[in-house]
Amino acid sequence: MSSASRNSASRNSASGTTVPGTAAVEPDRAVTGRPGAPHPLVDRYGRVHTDLRVSLTDRCNLRCTYCMPAEGLDWLPRAEVLSDDEVVRLVRIAVRRLGITSVRLTGGEPLLRRGLPALVGRIAELGAEVSLTTNGIGLARTAEALRAAGLHRVNVSLDTLSPERYAALTRRDRLADVLAGLAAAHAAGLAPVKVNAVPVRGVNDDELAELLGFAVRHGYRMRFIESMPLDAQGAWDRERMVTADEILARLGERFDLHPVGRSGNAPAEEWRIAGTDAVVGVIASVTRPFCGGCDRVRLTADGQLRNCLFATEESDLRALLRDGADDDRVEAAWRATIARKGPGHAIGGADFVRPARPMSAIGG
Ligand code: SF4
Repeated sequence: MSSASRNSASRNSASGTTVPGTAAVEPDRAVTGRPGAPHPLVDRYGRVHTDLRVSLTDRCNLRCTYCMPAEGLDWLPRAEVLSDDEVVRLVRIAVRRLGITSVRLTGGEPLLRRGLPALVGRIAELGAEVSLTTNGIGLARTAEALRAAGLHRVNVSLDTLSPERYAALTRRDRLADVLAGLAAAHAAGLAPVKVNAVPVRGVNDDELAELLGFAVRHGYRMRFIESMPLDAQGAWDRERMVTADEILARLGERFDLHPVGRSGNAPAEEWRIAGTDAVVGVIASVTRPFCGGCDRVRLTADGQLRNCLFATEESDLRALLRDGADDDRVEAAWRATIARKGPGHAIGGADFVRPARPMSAIGG
């Protein structure tokens, strides 16, 4: 992604419509943090933000066809990526002042971040629950160290169990490494170990029941995610997206599923498999949006704050840090960003604008 497109991301996105079932909240209430005690990070729809997603790098060692081109992307120059000290300072402000209680480390591929276990340790010391979203490459080597450093749980992306199909989908022949990574995470005591799969019509949508069966046999928690218009190529096609209804219909051919709903503001709706303790989750951002209960805020690897996965504007916290701003100024900028948050994505709507930044540079 060229620097021009990174800088052109700052356009206002609020569409002003209210989120069904939530009352508008006076914006100024969201920006008066009291030093010392976390003051909830609330947007104008009353949504309290407690879940921070931190992208540690935009680089990745896979080339998934629904995410980026075979040649990859022009990665962020190292100087533009937040240092460990900068990441820890921003997470400290988020936890100590803004009421963030869970931190999800993402990428690109976060396992590519040098010194990751030490960084996990420093973040875990701040008291939030720490989790990781990874493609699993290298997890077999690092799971124990990450667990010992304070990592709680892990989400591993796995769209197929076929080595040939995996190599075609990711342009890398690394399925065995992912399976070894999953087993190592489980053995290390990371829990739950979640498996995230993105069904694509005509690619892996004939394998959903196999993936669920695999997860149940190994004690992993399976989740299927509707594909979203966030690929770097801009090639997302709604026709190739497998909807939640279709996913459930396919699974229902093999499994007797009983709805158990959503736990809190989690994005996944869950179903229990009859006769087992196993549940399967479906994250249907497109056909069953869950923006009304959104509690997520995102920090990119280059220190930009995003109040929504589909935000088209960002706030430059890195510049504040590098300009010597104190924690009060950073906190105020963070609260102002959340105060501008729109009701939700408008995918399929007339005013939907694709974000300039792709998913690989935002993080899950
Ligand atoms: S699309 Fe945006 S508002 Fe909706 S759930 Fe995702 S991050 Fe939250």
